[in-house]
Amino acid sequence: MEGGTTFQFVTDGVEAALERARASAGDRDISVAGGPSTVNQFLTAGLLDVLRLHVTPCVIGAGERVLEGVPPQRLELVRSARGDWIDEEHDPEGFALTFEWQQAEGSRAEHRTELAELDAAEARVVSGSYGVCAVCGRPIPWGQLERRPARTVCVACTDR
Ligand SMILES: [Zn+2]
Repeated sequence: MEGGTTFQFVTDGVEAALERARASAGDRDISVAGGPSTVNQFLTAGLLDVLRLHVTPCVIGAGERVLEGVPPQRLELVRSARGDWIDEEHDPEGFALTFEWQQAEGSRAEHRTELAELDAAEARVVSGSYGVCAVCGRPIPWGQLERRPARTVCVACTDR
């Protein structure tokens, strides 16, 4: 192709595509370009070091979502940028605010789960079943409960 670009069509998965890209790139960086399906496949396979996500306000009506069906990821915001299209009056901090909001929502969800686990533990205290392993039925050692009061299964059964 003009400009020296060569396209190779790989149909046996993202791992195979990355393997071929590595073979031609040598020690240079490899960029994965594509839509949500491509990104989600690479994220699920744990093959991305950096995700450059461009968020634009536009209504498409249908399509694929980034991160849908992808196992939880530990993402760290490295840099954010904002375009001129941002409505200063309604979103003065642009992407940074959105990112903070997502972080706060994540924390809230975590705390909500933790609270539900503690409520369930309290109910077990009331019913007299607190500290009994739900798998083996033996008492959960005190040290394990001290570290995780909402624990329902002893360490031995968790490791099984
Ligand atoms: Zn047990």
